[in-house]
Amino acid sequence: MNKNEEKRQTLLVVDDEKSNLSLLNRILSPQYTILVARSGEEALARVRETIPDLILLDIVMPGMNGFEVIARLKDDPATRRVPVIFITGLDSAEDEERGLELGAVDYIGKPFKEAIVRARVKNHMQILHQMHVIERLGLLDPLTDIANRRSFDEHLPREWKSAAREHRPLSLLMMDVDNFKLYNDTHGHPQGDVLLKTIARLINSAAARRPRDICARIGGEEFAVLCPDTDHNGALDVAERIRHTVETTKVLSFDSKLTSATISIGVATVIPKDTDNMSEFVKLADERLYAAKSDGRNRVVG
Ligand code: GH3
Ligand code: MG
Ligand code: MG
Repeated sequence: MNKNEEKRQTLLVVDDEKSNLSLLNRILSPQYTILVARSGEEALARVRETIPDLILLDIVMPGMNGFEVIARLKDDPATRRVPVIFITGLDSAEDEERGLELGAVDYIGKPFKEAIVRARVKNHMQILHQMHVIERLGLLDPLTDIANRRSFDEHLPREWKSAAREHRPLSLLMMDVDNFKLYNDTHGHPQGDVLLKTIARLINSAAARRPRDICARIGGEEFAVLCPDTDHNGALDVAERIRHTVETTKVLSFDSKLTSATISIGVATVIPKDTDNMSEFVKLADERLYAAKSDGRNRVVG
């Protein structure tokens, strides 16, 4: 989810003319990682190895032509969404229409102007980038910028299956801010939001030290951390680190006073078997969270 994930975009260029390939490679390789294929068959083979972000596809080629290639791509769920731009010497309106009907996003005639190719490719790459950002936003909690409930609900079964397959422990921390209603009543709702943001940041830095750890805001003042490949003692350490960090962090309030908060945490660990029930696991962590509350709050129960 971080900015480092924004890697260089990949473009597959398909053309039977070597001179076209090298020209396109020259004008596009400064911005993108370029893959090349010299026939329709080779294009499909390349796509099976690496799914590119965008394809520039010639139409007239010996063997499988561009129309057949795009039809194959659209048939396969794995490649259906990869946008295709035709770049071709066929310049009749019917050819263009046919290409667009087959699902191409654009059509560039040969001989092409370098600036046009560059601009059209850039437009489509930008659209793709924006789509990825929007997809990612749907999984982020807007207040705290950490994973949201939906994201957590998608990760949990995946990690559960992987732990079962590898016979590795999976730990879950369920957390709830103590007396948060009172905090809101005392300092106001906007100040409550500030505290939630601070706590999310603290949990994230105290917990998610391993790349596979997932911190999520799963409700108003409730958070969860999922720790793959972490045994119970390891998870209790993480939980205690979070509890202690929250307790000792002072937050500056809008009326320039220092405030602080505490958090209660329930911890459950499982090496899942096929017969185990994932919701029982979540329930156990929840029950331990409530035990932490009734034992007096600001504590970890495992
Ligand atoms: P406990 O220690 O038992 O958890 O007590 P509590 O007061 O934290 O628990 P309770 O569930 O009674 O209250 C939670 C409060 O959190 C009530 C709700 O108004 C507040 N809250 C929920 N979401 C948000 C939010 O996004 N921002 C703010 N500022 N407050 C929120
Ligand atoms: Mg609470
Ligand atoms: Mg609550």
